[in-house]
Amino acid sequence: MAISFDLAGKAALVTGANTGIGQAIAVALAEAGADVAVAGRSEPVETLAAIESVGRKAVNIKADLGSIAPVQRVIDEAIAGLGRLDILVNNAGIIRRDDLLDFNEADWDAVIDTNLKTLFFLSQAAARSMAARGSGKIINIASLLSFQGGIRVPSYAAAKSGVSGVTKAMANELAPKGVQVNAIAPGYISTNNTAALQGDETRNRQILERIPTGRWGKPEDIAGAAVFLASSASDYVTGQVLAVDGGWLAR
Ligand code: NDP
Repeated sequence: MAISFDLAGKAALVTGANTGIGQAIAVALAEAGADVAVAGRSEPVETLAAIESVGRKAVNIKADLGSIAPVQRVIDEAIAGLGRLDILVNNAGIIRRDDLLDFNEADWDAVIDTNLKTLFFLSQAAARSMAARGSGKIINIASLLSFQGGIRVPSYAAAKSGVSGVTKAMANELAPKGVQVNAIAPGYISTNNTAALQGDETRNRQILERIPTGRWGKPEDIAGAAVFLASSASDYVTGQVLAVDGGWLAR
């Protein structure tokens, strides 16, 4: 059988697709042939237009994923809009920075809820439908801080380590039902999230010196890995956290 990255006839849902990594993933999945629903707080006009411009169906689902309240509605609307759900990309995420000794409960809860709790319950709702059909792909966006502690980001490190753990937990239980669950751990990717770091000359130089590839990643670098993990080319890959980091962790 020929190896295929073709997603024609597939239906995908991407969270947080109005910008950055989520936008690049949503557009790349559409370019590979999938119809794509996007879920987030605002209407991602550019992303929806880009999906439609390659002849794919685009569905917008308005939802604040800072809590699990809307998760079942989001999955129901994706299936109603696209007719089925084959691929879920849990991308929406936030970061809060403060010194460890000052870190407050609100910032702890917001990061854990958005980056980890919603990711699990959205996956659970999607997996019920995927398992019933005997196939599906769930892709979680993790981080280098799934492997490292970082500085001044304790809730983010906890959440993203949790993403790694829950990816493996879901992969174990869902593999017999035909559903693969993997994560992508982006390195330093040029997005709104990292604009301040890139704007700080000293930090930017330190980061570039530390990346073997010698450049910041682009959102499209992550989208390539997402297309692989969404396609049948990765049918024997599950429970993995794939670092796409220009070699950062190899150093
Ligand atoms: P962006 O800030 O550009 O994108 C984050 C996305 O998440 C936005 O679409 C945002 O939507 C959405 N989001 C945040 N909170 C909520 C919420 N409560 N409900 C719905 N949507 C929400 O950042 P990136 O593209 O950089 O980040 C995407 C993912 O990649 C995140 O999970 C991040 O942790 C991860 N990551 C990024 C790295 C990087 O270097 N850039 C490195 C490692 C991981 P809204 O506009 O409504 O806020």
